[in-house]
Amino acid sequence: PEALRLTHVTKVYGTGDGAVTALDSVSLALPAGTFTAVMGPSGSGKSTLLQCAAGLDRPDSGTVTVDGQELTGGSEAELTKLRRQRIGFVFQQYNLLPTLSVLQNTVLPLKLAGRRVDPVRAADILAQVGLGDRLARRPDELSGGQRQRVAIARALVTEPSVVFADEPTGALDTRSAREVLRLLQEAVRVHGRTVVMVTHDPVAASYADAVIFLADGRPAGQLNAPTVDAVA
Ligand code: ADP
Ligand code: ADP
Repeated sequence: PEALRLTHVTKVYGTGDGAVTALDSVSLALPAGTFTAVMGPSGSGKSTLLQCAAGLDRPDSGTVTVDGQELTGGSEAELTKLRRQRIGFVFQQYNLLPTLSVLQNTVLPLKLAGRRVDPVRAADILAQVGLGDRLARRPDELSGGQRQRVAIARALVTEPSVVFADEPTGALDTRSAREVLRLLQEAVRVHGRTVVMVTHDPVAASYADAVIFLADGRPAGQLNAPTVDAVA
C-alpha cells in the first residue's frame, strides 16, 4: 500500500514580481515501508516539500494524502488530528522542550493526541534508542546525538505511518549521525514506518532506499524511486 502521495503540489511564496515558486506541480507516491532521501541545492524546495507533505503548511494547489486520507482540503482541526495520528517529525535542532524530562518529551505527542500514556511502553521505546537510563534527565543534560535520539523516540511513540526528518544529522558528529540514521532505518525495516528525510549529506542519503533530487521546485532526478512523477 501507498503511505504518501503528492499530486501536482504547487507552493508559491509572495505575489507579483516578487513571487517565488517553491514547488512546481510536484507529484510522487511512496510505498509504505520505504526510506526516501530528498536532496538538492539550497533553495530547491526541500523544506517546502517536507512542510507541505507533512501538513505543516498548505500547498496553493494540488493534494497530499497519507494512507489514502487527504491532508489538504479539510479544516484545520481535521488536519491537526490526522497529523497527530499518522505523522511524526524529526528536526535538525531537535525541538525538545527544555523544561520537560526525556520521558515527558517523548510522550508529549500521545498526550496532545489525547491518548493514554503507558509508562512501560514509553520507557521501552527509549530503551530502543539507547536512552533507557536517561528517562529523568533534561535535554540540556544530554549530548546532541542523545537529544536527537529522544526526538526520534518522540516521533515514533504514536506509531505513525510516515516520519518526516529535516536534516536530522545536520548538527551531529559522524558517530551520532550514524546512530540516528540506523534508528531511522530500523523504524522502516523493523516497524514498517515510511521515512522521508531531507539531507545535504550523501552519506546520510546512502542509508535511504531511494533518493529524490529537487531543483527549482521540481523533481530533477531520482535513484531507485520509480514512483516519482508516475502519478502526474
Ligand atoms: P530548500 O529547503 O531546498 O533550501 P526551501 O523550500 O527552503 O528550499 O525554499 C524554496 C524557495 O522558496 C526558495 O527560493 C526560498 O527562498 C523560498 N522560500 C521558502 N520559504 C519562504 C517564505 N516563508 N517566504 C518567502 N520565500 C520562501
Ligand atoms: P511494537 O509494535 O514495537 O511491538 P508496541 O505495540 O508495544 O510495540 O508499541 C510500539 C511503541 O510505541 C512502543 O515502543 C511504545 O513505547 C510506544 N507506544 C505506543 N502506544 C503507547 C502508549 N499509549 N504509551 C506509551 N508508549 C506507547
